[in-house]
Amino acid sequence: MSATTTEAARTQDVFEPLNFVLFLAIVVATLVGIPLYGYYVGFTLFDWILSGVMYIITGMGITVGYHRLVSHQSFECPNWVKAAILVAGGWAMQNSALKWGADHIRHHAKTDEEEDPYNATKGFWHSHCGWLFYDTPYRSQKYEIRLRRDPVVMWQDRYYWPIVVTGLLLPFLLGAWHGGWQGGIGAFLLGGLFRMFMVLNSTFTINSLCHMVGSQPHSTKDSSRDSWLVSFVSFGEGYHNFHHTYARDFRNGPKWYNFDPSKWIIYTLWLLGLASNLRRNDPTVG
Ligand SMILES: [Zn+2]
Ligand SMILES: [Zn+2]
Repeated sequence: MSATTTEAARTQDVFEPLNFVLFLAIVVATLVGIPLYGYYVGFTLFDWILSGVMYIITGMGITVGYHRLVSHQSFECPNWVKAAILVAGGWAMQNSALKWGADHIRHHAKTDEEEDPYNATKGFWHSHCGWLFYDTPYRSQKYEIRLRRDPVVMWQDRYYWPIVVTGLLLPFLLGAWHGGWQGGIGAFLLGGLFRMFMVLNSTFTINSLCHMVGSQPHSTKDSSRDSWLVSFVSFGEGYHNFHHTYARDFRNGPKWYNFDPSKWIIYTLWLLGLASNLRRNDPTVG
């Protein structure tokens, strides 16, 4: 009886004002500050190219590193390669790979249930970003046990905030090197802030739209869906129904023509001898 009461008391989510304020600041700075700066001062081609390159590097840091490597162990690689990929993922400011991975493992274990961190049955905004603003009692350490055995994951967790800062400093320094003080500000705004906002929304889209829009060719046991359209903004992770069905597969889009740049990067690393044991869970396709 007391155990039941304790469980009931622990089901309350607690609002996290700091997360909300930080997120709101990023949204306002991106949607209001950046267009105003663009109108009154302007951005250079260098700023836009840097933003695109940083978007791809940090986005793939999440999909290849945080998601397929750390959360699902869909391939293996030397520690220095893993460290490099997890630094790129840290630059996306989506928490350390340890915390992100534990949340994601819980998402797969409890999809569409109360314990699912981005439970899509609670609606678009909750699964997209609303879940970030609450501390949940379900963030149990049991989902971190396997991840904590990895020294590179623990190293990245310890230095997570310095890594985030270097990810914002890098575009500023490159911009300043290219165009002086003003060049630094423009490069920081597009290569730091804007690309961070875009990668955050790319990841959020997988948790929201990929559980709402598309088809279910592989399984109907949860709300996950395949959408080639979403794959274009999520580095190939739109084939989410396949992913939920064969979670350890290094591919999310299993067919050769599926747009899955994360799969292509992992395959390229394998060709270069920098990745091994690429896992294919579904032998019938691709
Ligand atoms: Zn999912
Ligand atoms: Zn996953």
